[in-house]
Amino acid sequence: MSRCPLCGEVLKWEDLIEQMLTLNNFKELLKNRDSFLSTLDTFIFTCPKCGEEFYGNSLSQNEASKVFELLNEFKGSIDYENNKVKLKLTNLLTLDLMLEEWDRRVKNTR
Ligand SMILES: [Zn+2]
Repeated sequence: MSRCPLCGEVLKWEDLIEQMLTLNNFKELLKNRDSFLSTLDTFIFTCPKCGEEFYGNSLSQNEASKVFELLNEFKGSIDYENNKVKLKLTNLLTLDLMLEEWDRRVKNTR
C-alpha cells in the first residue's frame, strides 16, 4: 500500500496514474517497464489530501511494477480522451498481493 510521504494518507494508484496521464508520451511509457519506472521515480505527484508534492521514488517500486503489468494486461483500462483510469488499480493490487502472500504460505507449509 502506498502512502503520502508527508501526511501518510493512503494513495490510490488510479489517482497517481491519472496525474501521470498529463505526460504526452504516457502511451509509449507503457511499452517499456524501465522507462515507465524511471519516469515514475522522477515524476512529481501531488497528494490529494494535503496538497503537498513528492517524487514518485517514495512510492513502492514493487507496486509500481505491478501497476505497469496491470495496465498492460487490461487493454483499454485508460480513457485517454478524458484522462481517466477506468481500472480500480488499488483493489487489483491488493488482491494480487494477497494471492502472492497466500502462495507463499502454501509453499512454506509443504
Ligand atoms: Zn499528503
